[in-house]
Amino acid sequence: MDELIRVQELKKYFKTAAGTLHAVDGVSFSIQKGQTLGVVGESGCGKSTLGRVILGLLEASGGQVLYGGSDITRAKGEERFRLRREMQMIFQDPFSSLDPRMSVSEIIAEPLIIYKQCAGRGELDHRVAEIMDTVGLASRLANSYPHELDGGRRQRIGIGRALALRPRFIVCDEPVSALDVSIQAQILNLMQDLQQAQELTYLFITHDLSVVKHVSDHILVMYLGCMVEKCPAKELFHHQYHPYTKGLISAIPIPNIHRRQEPVLMKGELSSPIDPQPGCRFANRCPYAREVCSTTTPQLVQVRENHLVACHFVKEINGL
Ligand code: SF4
Repeated sequence: MDELIRVQELKKYFKTAAGTLHAVDGVSFSIQKGQTLGVVGESGCGKSTLGRVILGLLEASGGQVLYGGSDITRAKGEERFRLRREMQMIFQDPFSSLDPRMSVSEIIAEPLIIYKQCAGRGELDHRVAEIMDTVGLASRLANSYPHELDGGRRQRIGIGRALALRPRFIVCDEPVSALDVSIQAQILNLMQDLQQAQELTYLFITHDLSVVKHVSDHILVMYLGCMVEKCPAKELFHHQYHPYTKGLISAIPIPNIHRRQEPVLMKGELSSPIDPQPGCRFANRCPYAREVCSTTTPQLVQVRENHLVACHFVKEINGL
């Protein structure tokens, strides 16, 4: 299987009145063609910023994003235009990401017009109808406006718009978080069907581990801008080694009254991502923290095949 995306030591910092906010701080990973990398973490951990930097919507403060071998962070002009066509985004809130003054067909047609993908009106109409059919939107909705549709249909428009330019890579930023549970399953199934049919590669960002479990090949856990654990998706739910990941997994409700799981409580306050000092960013909340955790930043180490964890005491905590 070929690699499509390689992210190396990616950083995104923001200047604020209080200091420099380290939203993404040295994140590295790769995604193979046709696979999904789930990125999970609490709100504010930098996962959405990561997605935007990878797509070039925000300029990186350091590091590289290689797409099919091309360095996106330095691409300019025509090359950047081409790369943007192949890399798209599905947003969390379809309502606010769609222009309320445009009809369904106009929203889907817009990227085709901007990128001059169709020879004339007939071809454009044909392509829009084809995309609507692919994402399960009835043709009678072509002249409807986003406010006339429910959340599931609005997200189908967002997916259709993202697919219009036949991308190869899509950043999905909390694509089902704003939807009812019953609709979530339909949208996730649609995205998986499209992935198989079109060999799409996804970066799937979410705070919801029960969602990411079903769609990901690998999962990356972020905490305050840093990677703390990364491994194959199936493995994470059986063998999680970082204290933060253990806390996240133990908080997932189990639909079985005969099985009990004690939640791993995370005490303390979140540390500040502004001008962070060396040390583990989880130290304030970690039940295993010792002095070295507040002075020395833990590096990612391999604890099993394809399984990386950033914790000074990972072996001791897990009896490895
Ligand atoms: Fe906890 Fe220290 Fe490991 Fe950080 S490095 S997770 S504070 S034990």
